[in-house]
Amino acid sequence: RSYAAGPGAARLGIPGVQHIIAVASGKGGVGKSTTAVNLAVALAQRLGLRVGLLDADVYGPSIPRMMCLSGKPRVDEDEKMIPLINHGVACMSMGFLMEEDVAAVWRGPMVMSALETFMHRVRWAPLDVLVIDMPPGTGDAQLSISQRLRLSGAVIVSTPQATLLDARRGCTMFRKVNVPILGIVENMSWFICGACGHESHPFGSGGAEKAAADLDMEVLGKIPLNIAIRETSDVGAPIVATQPDSSAAAAYVSVAERV
Ligand code: ADP
Repeated sequence: RSYAAGPGAARLGIPGVQHIIAVASGKGGVGKSTTAVNLAVALAQRLGLRVGLLDADVYGPSIPRMMCLSGKPRVDEDEKMIPLINHGVACMSMGFLMEEDVAAVWRGPMVMSALETFMHRVRWAPLDVLVIDMPPGTGDAQLSISQRLRLSGAVIVSTPQATLLDARRGCTMFRKVNVPILGIVENMSWFICGACGHESHPFGSGGAEKAAADLDMEVLGKIPLNIAIRETSDVGAPIVATQPDSSAAAAYVSVAERV
């Protein structure tokens, strides 16, 4: 997709990075990180783009586990950190720099300065797309990323149970700061039984369409609730990379194609 330069165009981009896309959610636990990871892998492996993934969820970084990456990034001659790469995606996360639970006690300004470091002291270039796994919710850190960085757009991840309320929160924040909303991804949209492959809609259907219409945005795609998605995430082998022919992988690829 091509993007028109919006009112946010005066904000700072990252040199050598064509597009920055935020993956956000109104609350935690809806599958935002899982979606960001599989979207990034789909953009890289299936669309052939040069892709980076920034774990901005400094309080609960999950990218190291989901991408099976660990260790301290090397620093180049310009004092920039070099992202760690797996599944064709260049990644940076607070989890590479410290124990997972340390950041949990950080104050706001420390979070901000960590995020600034990740945006401007990392050798991201050259990239076609940098996917940002945003912190959950719509607080100061999220607002500040959206205000300071030139985001091409935001993808909002939600679940069918609370789609409208959640999506509205994320949507309001991005619109307030003039970041274009690319659309909503409904995660855990329907259930695929891991044992027999039977599909069902335990939370009903049509919720995403209704929310999207209400908020005047698109449904970018729907991702099934599938145990293989969680299992592959847990071992750092995203389903798009390791089970590329599965219907779950196809669902992520179709989101990647629409972004
Ligand atoms: P968030 O980033 O919104 O907090 P996560 O991506 O960490 O959420 O997902 C929360 C949990 O749900 C993880 O254990 C993840 O593996 C699991 N999960 C996410 N999406 C799916 C899905 N579509 N099917 C099955 N499990 C999922």
